Amino acid sequence: MDQVLGQPNALDLLNLQLTTGRQHHAYIFHGPIGVGKFTTALAYARILLCHDRVTDLAGKAAACGACPSCNLLSSLTTPNPEASQDDDTVGLTTAHPDLHVIRKELARYSDDASTRNRKLTRIPVEVLRSSLIEPANLAPKLASGKVFIVDEAELLNPAGQNALLKTLEEPPAGTTLILVTGNEDRLLPTIRSRCMRIAFSPLHDQAVEDWCTQHTPDLTGTQRQTMIEFAAGSLGRAQLISRFGLLAWTDSVLPALDRASQGKPTADFGQQVFGFIDSYANAFVKAHHNASKEAANKQGADLMWSLIATRARRRITELSQQCTPDDPITNEALLSPWLAVIDATEQAQKLLASNVNLSITCDHFAVAMTRGLDPGC
Ligand SMILES: [Zn+2]
Repeated sequence: MDQVLGQPNALDLLNLQLTTGRQHHAYIFHGPIGVGKFTTALAYARILLCHDRVTDLAGKAAACGACPSCNLLSSLTTPNPEASQDDDTVGLTTAHPDLHVIRKELARYSDDASTRNRKLTRIPVEVLRSSLIEPANLAPKLASGKVFIVDEAELLNPAGQNALLKTLEEPPAGTTLILVTGNEDRLLPTIRSRCMRIAFSPLHDQAVEDWCTQHTPDLTGTQRQTMIEFAAGSLGRAQLISRFGLLAWTDSVLPALDRASQGKPTADFGQQVFGFIDSYANAFVKAHHNASKEAANKQGADLMWSLIATRARRRITELSQQCTPDDPITNEALLSPWLAVIDATEQAQKLLASNVNLSITCDHFAVAMTRGLDPGC
């Protein structure tokens, strides 16, 4: 697991389980997107499936690197950030007979035409049955156990999560289940209570900076700093920003926020934000076979709210240094515009989660943000 960057708490916890032989049969790896949850799940699976586990020089449990299991999984130990999710899925499903990776993209390989042709907004329960529930009850083919990784587990609807409960309650011997999610709240309490939860944190800025050095060496110093702020500790987000040219958003959105905080809101800001998200979602759908526009809209909106909220938090940190304990009214006037911006992003997230139309959500965001700037309201 030494390939995972910047998650010492999660790795220590997993290593302790391995070295004491007290592994749990089901885990939830939760935390922001793009911070190493899935990479850690693969690395952990590799150790669990190894025939001849070793202890490395640092005293950590490690795969031997030489047994038949390790040989099959060796190509998976170095994630390729340039590969599309579709390519990854094909490789992962065929790499090892006892490693099963369940993703919404697997619906493309379903025997059932209606499942195959459905747009990918969920992990269909049919896919869960054929890729997890049924194979979990079969004997392992090569290793002494089996590992199932459900990526984006929040995309299992309640019926899918309920179908999973029996496997969680009575796991076949040697079976390990890892649910990877960026939105743990969308897992049922009955699922959460049966799993060991491992928290992953945003990465330090240095990790994003190192990624930029390697993958986007042409950025200017200012662009690199903006990229680090936008990525907010997520290499997954950094990849999307780079691949889809999203740094261009910052040229319009961030100055508009500064103007709005000074009481000069940009006319039609909501539609400007909507236009950026909509263009991104169209480009994403074009680049990913069977991707759904609705899911891409939500992903684009998450990126936008993150960009805006991160900038607001940065401004609050800067301005709080000008605050004095004996002048609460001035302090309030300094900070309230940016607190209003954060509130507006949270409201927008809730609206979109309850399936309010994206264009309306963006308009609501702009109005809520502007209203928060006006002390008369
Ligand atoms: Zn091995």
